[in-house]
Amino acid sequence: MSRTVIAIDGPAGSGKSTVAKAVAKALSWHYLDTGSMYRAVTVAAQRRNLNLNDEEVMGDFAESVTIELGNSVLVNGEDVTEELRTEQTNRDVSIVATMARVRHAMVHQQRLFATTAATGIVVEGRDITTVVFPDARVKIYLTASLEERSRRRGGDEGEDSVARRDHADMSREVSPLTQASDAHTIDTTDRSIADVVEEILTCLANSSN
Ligand code: C5P
Repeated sequence: MSRTVIAIDGPAGSGKSTVAKAVAKALSWHYLDTGSMYRAVTVAAQRRNLNLNDEEVMGDFAESVTIELGNSVLVNGEDVTEELRTEQTNRDVSIVATMARVRHAMVHQQRLFATTAATGIVVEGRDITTVVFPDARVKIYLTASLEERSRRRGGDEGEDSVARRDHADMSREVSPLTQASDAHTIDTTDRSIADVVEEILTCLANSSN
């Protein structure tokens, strides 16, 4: 790995995106939202009417695309931003994210991003501390109560859907969401964003490698 990485994992609504973006901004580092990558592949496949349950079809497809993340999310240049967070995508992404070849293709693009970035990067997802960057300089596991997490998702996603997605993410065979034994855990339920960001920046300041 050629760039310093802060890796952040946690379930839906734990505050990963908000916190990771704020940490990246404070450091003037890049931010990588890996959930958007799984969502992007899912939307592009939906649009092509691919069979989302077919591992071979989805594996071939994931290996054939390049994803660009910015204000818009592009899959081989095609803007998929609009459907990224629909109910259908919330459901379908859990299926697509179980597939080993899809994950392999995404992890490859994530590592490439770290190699080519001009600054350090803050990366968030489900398998970042355990699989993608197990040697990250700082490893964080964010969590919060289910009630609070679904409240944060607002109209986007109800408690049932968040709970279903958590279960799927934690119980899948390939790269399940788990707490790395050397990750620093932060329960964000009653904490302000600024406070959590400060704690992560302190972890970085205290890190030795
Ligand atoms: O972070 P977000 O909720 O947008 O992620 C959407 C879905 O993508 C997750 O529920 C999970 O199934 C999948 N995902 C994953 N590994 C990651 C990031 C996201 O499996 N590193």
